[in-house]
Amino acid sequence: MISRLDQKTTNTLYGHFARELASAGFSGDIELGYADRTVLATDNSIYQVLPEGVLYPRSTEDISKILTLAHKPDFHQIVVSPRGGGTGTNGQSLTSGFMVDTSRYMNRVLEINTRERWARVQSGAIKDYLNELAAKEGLFFAPELSTSNRATVGGMVNTDASGQGSVVYGKTRHHVLELTSVLADGTVWNSSPVDNDQLEQLCQRQDRIGEIYNTLKKTHCEHHQRVSEVFPHLNRNLTGYDLANIVNKDHQHDLNAILCGSEGTLAIISEIKVNLLPIPKQSALVLVFYKSFQDSLQDAQALMAAEPGSIETIDSRVLGLAKSDSVWESVKDFFPKQSDDIDGINFVEFTGDDEAEIQQGIDRLKTELEKPVSIWRAGHSVVMGTGNVKKIWNMRKQAVGLLGNMKGDARPIPFVEDVAVPPENLAEFIKAFRALLDSHHLTYGMFGHVDAGVLHVRPAIDMKDPEQEKLVRLISDDVAALARNHGGVLWGEHGKGVRSEYAPDFFADLYPVLQEIKGVFDPYNQLNPGKIATPATLPEPVQLLKIDEVPTRGQQDREIERNAFEAFTSSLYCNGNGACFNYNPNSAMCPTWKATYDRIQSPKGRSGLVREWLRLQTAAGADIAGESHKIRQAGPLYNGGQKLINLVNKWRGEEDFSHQVYGALDNCMSCKSCAGQCPIQVNVPDLRSRYFELYHGRYPRPVKHHVAGLLEPMLPVLAKFKPAYNLVMGWSVANTLAGKTVGLQDIPAITSSSPTSDCCRAGAAIANRTLLDAIPDSERDKTVIIIQDAFTSFFETPLLTDLVELLIRLGYRPLIAPYKPNGKVLHVYGFLGRFEKIARTNGEELKELADSGISLVGIDAAVTLTYRDEYKEVMGEDSPEVLLLSEWFAQQSKTLRQLQMNLSDTAEEEFVLLGHCTETSNVPAAPAQWQQLYQDLGLKLTYKATGCCGMAGIYGHETRNQETSRKLYDMSWKDVVQNPENSGRLVATGYSCRSQVKRYGDGKIPHPVQTLLQVMKQKA
Ligand SMILES: Cc1cc2nc3c(=O)[nH]c(=O)nc-3n(C[C@H](O)[C@H](O)[C@H](O)COP(=O)(O)OP(=O)(O)OC[C@H]3O[C@@H](n4cnc5c(N)ncnc54)[C@H](O)[C@@H]3O)c2cc1C
Ligand code: SF4
Ligand code: SF4
Repeated sequence: MISRLDQKTTNTLYGHFARELASAGFSGDIELGYADRTVLATDNSIYQVLPEGVLYPRSTEDISKILTLAHKPDFHQIVVSPRGGGTGTNGQSLTSGFMVDTSRYMNRVLEINTRERWARVQSGAIKDYLNELAAKEGLFFAPELSTSNRATVGGMVNTDASGQGSVVYGKTRHHVLELTSVLADGTVWNSSPVDNDQLEQLCQRQDRIGEIYNTLKKTHCEHHQRVSEVFPHLNRNLTGYDLANIVNKDHQHDLNAILCGSEGTLAIISEIKVNLLPIPKQSALVLVFYKSFQDSLQDAQALMAAEPGSIETIDSRVLGLAKSDSVWESVKDFFPKQSDDIDGINFVEFTGDDEAEIQQGIDRLKTELEKPVSIWRAGHSVVMGTGNVKKIWNMRKQAVGLLGNMKGDARPIPFVEDVAVPPENLAEFIKAFRALLDSHHLTYGMFGHVDAGVLHVRPAIDMKDPEQEKLVRLISDDVAALARNHGGVLWGEHGKGVRSEYAPDFFADLYPVLQEIKGVFDPYNQLNPGKIATPATLPEPVQLLKIDEVPTRGQQDREIERNAFEAFTSSLYCNGNGACFNYNPNSAMCPTWKATYDRIQSPKGRSGLVREWLRLQTAAGADIAGESHKIRQAGPLYNGGQKLINLVNKWRGEEDFSHQVYGALDNCMSCKSCAGQCPIQVNVPDLRSRYFELYHGRYPRPVKHHVAGLLEPMLPVLAKFKPAYNLVMGWSVANTLAGKTVGLQDIPAITSSSPTSDCCRAGAAIANRTLLDAIPDSERDKTVIIIQDAFTSFFETPLLTDLVELLIRLGYRPLIAPYKPNGKVLHVYGFLGRFEKIARTNGEELKELADSGISLVGIDAAVTLTYRDEYKEVMGEDSPEVLLLSEWFAQQSKTLRQLQMNLSDTAEEEFVLLGHCTETSNVPAAPAQWQQLYQDLGLKLTYKATGCCGMAGIYGHETRNQETSRKLYDMSWKDVVQNPENSGRLVATGYSCRSQVKRYGDGKIPHPVQTLLQVMKQKA
């Protein structure tokens, strides 16, 4: 049996602080639970540091309350780190003290002033969210970064973020107009550049503000000469405190130059006013190909003469990943047919307001390309139009994400991932850098912003191995030296974080000046200590963090017993890149995070909790893999008596960290968007099933698990009593009772007492081996076997029969496989032993049908996908191939086109497709396949991206999920469904989605095949 786990509680001082803060009227959340702290113990870096607690302020006043209290002498030992999206790559926001997370509540865009082109946001506002609103006014916040759909503007300010296009648009600080900061003593201060008179007035003040401005003035007077010698003259000149720009080009003193890039070590920023720019109307890309990556780097300088907006580069590894992904389909025409020998590509972008401007840029580039050079270019292609350009950038983003998903123990990690050197030195620098990595036999991919001299490299290292871990020190030291020798910096784009260790050496005699700045802002070293600079104000000198002295995730992971790690391996390699925190309600990733803004309720949160749980279980001596085996063998009565005792203890309030982990996983919808969209393919539903199995080996299961697990096999029997069943289920009292007792409600009515017979009546024959063997070869291509699923067959039988009818009308011979439970629900609830048995029996029968060579297709995507994922886990390569309907129709495209069935004269309007989130995130080609089918038959179908509808199989039927289910529907489906323009035009592929629309009274949406059939009937 798994062990009971005691939680680590917050230390006494922090506990006392939390109580005082609550009594001071702090209106946000104070989280001291072990789960909350564990989830925020990581970012995208290699480090893992457990905070004592997490504070979620709701306002500037709340932040001020935190720092005012921390400033009291009793609490000078309290340290705080601000946090936004937590996407830092070098431990920037990690702390062993309190984390102050602005992303939960302080995430609003407060004002957009279109006339004056600026926006005011709270610091926790997500960058893409700001741009979504600004775009409505034709404006945008220009600094770009790959994490724009989850990084906050506060985080961007504090890392002075930038990315593609920085040569034209600059960095975040170039767009900051005003900052509202809370200083270490709780003072709230609005800063913007000041002229000399204002500066003098400020310097007269006898308070913290006066001290700060005096220091600012003195620093500039005394050191500006030396600063201009030491500080790097680079596009990416991240320094921490930017002493070089204290006085701006208008001769004003600018405190914001010091605050931008300060990584939360000087103040907590609560509000930000940024300038906005008009969105360029046109864009084009020229892709320049090379047979040597080195040549692409070297050539970038020459190409800059054409004055493009940006030049980005990728190597052959990144290109290879793009080709292996479905995203390649959308861009392959822009690349040479034979691209196997391409080792580097430069993406040269031109943006502007009209086509003539773009064309001039392209012409300038073509002129450059015609000039003789010492390197070898292997041709180029031009991509015109913003839509196409977006496709290429999306491909690049996707491929770069895939770099993280290397198989095996060694995984790409950030620690020297963003070196910046003068662009003219980049090629030489990279040559030496590669030689260094090759000398350690490391694998890596490279991509980056060659125009700005920044290349991203993440060497693959197994941080669980203490020997390999030592490479972090060896390589960091060497790369820091290499960067300096080439006139650059180690921290070109992502900030310093733990790498601040190299700052004293880099800034030499100016480091004490940085310390002076830190000292005036934060004399007791309470704000994100150990990073950028330490204050010289303390009686005892304090040190910066060291890159190999901060605890790492690898060190924690190596404490997990090997078999246990392997059992959960599909979900443990989360690297914290935060792609699952995508704010966009119309993206499938991750609905429970979007509905709650609670990081526990996310793939990263869930994965992190289970990692920690496995570590604690290993420490407690549990044999995780052995335990799973025993549970599967023994069945439901395993540990029956002991489970009841454990349950009573749980009711009596006995602590067990396993309950917190269970809570996080129990709320997961099993929608599998994470498995499809996380760059590392973290598969939380898999994690959840395995965890449920083990947890319920110690604690009894709720009744609803058993009821849901029995439903699939029982449906054929219940269907025989259809009238009685429907009468009971349709009765509101019974519905309420089921909701209260079993925890499930709104169970749909059964639509047929025998779906198989209905199909036969519609013209399908029952598939069996004898029949299949008798089908002549000439007819096999025109035959298809429909695999039934519980949802469609028993709750939406007309769809099944409509499909049969449609196939017949299209000239196919549909066969129907007898109904068999597929076991998905058992898997969802972690009845893995029972699932294995069903998967084996059902899988073997389907395999026998599949061996006939005739295609098997499933209607419900979520159920159908279990054949290629969960069944494969059980049966390996012997699992049956069952195609999604869209995939099968895509295979039939040529045949369908030959029918020349122009249905468009019957249907005037074009139709709009709403996808099922499991389908679109795991088979991204599905929407395009449906569109192809409509096009083949002469109809037009557009795809409207939506997020999760809130139903996700059984999730939306669970009583306790009603609020979230409704919220999710309202977030992205409601408006689309209720929009009068869409009336009669919508089609939806998911059973869950269609029933959710029906349940919330917004009418009925047909499946795409039903609309096709209807149009065909009208035409007939
Ligand atoms: C896959 C990947 C790609 C990336 N690509 C880029 C890129 O293209 N360009 C780029 O610049 N960066 C990039 N980064 C790094 C990271 O996304 C940026 O540094 C980003 O600006 C961090 O924002 P955040 O909201 O996640 O901040 P966090 O990581 O939460 O915090 C970053 C720092 O800011 C401080 N901070 C946060 N909020 C506040 C506040 N309100 N007041 C004071 N201090 C605060 C924190 O203490 C911390 O020091 C990438 C990261 C990943 C994982
Ligand atoms: S779960 Fe995936 S998407 Fe989320 S942080 Fe981890 S690796 Fe990134
Ligand atoms: S399955 Fe869905 S709800 Fe669960 S973690 Fe993954 S994306 Fe989130």
